[in-house]
Amino acid sequence: MLSVEDALAVVLREAKPLPSEEVALDEALGRVLAEDVAADRDLPPFDRSAMDGYALRAADVAQAPCALELVGEVRAGDAPTLTVGPGQAAKIMTGAPLPSGATAVQQVEKTRPLDEFRVTIEAAVEERQNVAPRGSEVRAGDTVLERGRLIDPSAVAVLATTGKARVRVARRPVAAVLVTGDEIVDVAELPGPSQIRNSNGPAVAAQARLAGANVRVLGIAPDRRDATVAALREGLAGVDVLIVSGGVSAGDYDLVEPALVELGTTLFFTKVAIKPGAPLVFGRRGETLVFGLPGNPVSAQVTFDVFVRAALLRMQGARVVSRPVLEVELLERLRNKSGRTAHLPVRLCLADGKLGAQPVPSMGSADLVAHSRANALVVLEAERTLAEAGERAPALLLGNFLERDGCE
Ligand code: AMP
Ligand code: MG
Repeated sequence: MLSVEDALAVVLREAKPLPSEEVALDEALGRVLAEDVAADRDLPPFDRSAMDGYALRAADVAQAPCALELVGEVRAGDAPTLTVGPGQAAKIMTGAPLPSGATAVQQVEKTRPLDEFRVTIEAAVEERQNVAPRGSEVRAGDTVLERGRLIDPSAVAVLATTGKARVRVARRPVAAVLVTGDEIVDVAELPGPSQIRNSNGPAVAAQARLAGANVRVLGIAPDRRDATVAALREGLAGVDVLIVSGGVSAGDYDLVEPALVELGTTLFFTKVAIKPGAPLVFGRRGETLVFGLPGNPVSAQVTFDVFVRAALLRMQGARVVSRPVLEVELLERLRNKSGRTAHLPVRLCLADGKLGAQPVPSMGSADLVAHSRANALVVLEAERTLAEAGERAPALLLGNFLERDGCE
């Protein structure tokens, strides 16, 4: 069986970069930058006051407290024409340009009005104190964002400050999601006693959207050869990635693999040494990549995270395509008797100042509720059949850190 690492290498080899397009800054969140962005001006663009206070000459206030003559006021947005001479000060606001002659700013809290024409400076300041010099953050022409960077809110801020009202980003991959199974009913339907609701379709569609894809939801294919072939043929048409759930294991009605072959798909692998998972089909037909994910809900989500997400991000030119990995300390013993690389649900929490991993009790690869309680997956390689409490292990961060972060 192919290792996770080798399978991922095959996936990334096959995930070809998509062309780029230009979008409005408003539309750029969550996209992958397809150009290097350089600063169009120095940052700050002028010597900027970092405080509300008084622009003055630092040498004049070395013997504070002392009185300075007021020569005017500089507000944010002003282009000051006044000059601060020896023994003088100008009132200045945060974000305003330092007037000529001034070498520092004393914050208003360390000053006191003396009379209409003078101010008392109560403490000395260093040269340049409370002044952000022009170009001290970034020089015009410096690269501020690199191609392949995922555009998060902090990148949006950088794009805005460099005047990028339009941004070149990778085209979104188009991903179709098809689920299979005679027992599966739509979420809006009432399941019969031996039926279950389609959770994989919405889950995988949501994962694909978070990875930047435009998703087409294709519905539920029954476990019949002709119907499976027809649904896959439709699903493969005109999309960058087809994601199928279920029908890839060893049962009599697992029809996805032979149907893909019948449709002329090249299969690169059909099994990976991963738990949850193992049956996992990956192929290509023309320009379309196909993933056949296992039907078990946790297996589908985990294999998506490790392989499909990486493919979608790589197609968009992202430099980082895998979840962040942290070394954590196990707070309880974990076992892996699967002979495969196990991904075990845990909650990360701070325990005695260290990042600890508390196992989430789970009934296994169908237990989607347990999976939803995890904020990370501890990865135990096949050889590591037992990891004792106190040992360290790598953990893939899933990111749902919004609630219940403590160890109970
Ligand atoms: P399969 O891989 O088709 O043998 O399915 C494995 C298990 O996952 C079975 O218990 C299925 O009922 C379940 N399953 C398959 N597809 C879905 C789905 N779309 N939503 C929830 N569970 C599913
Ligand atoms: Mg099935």
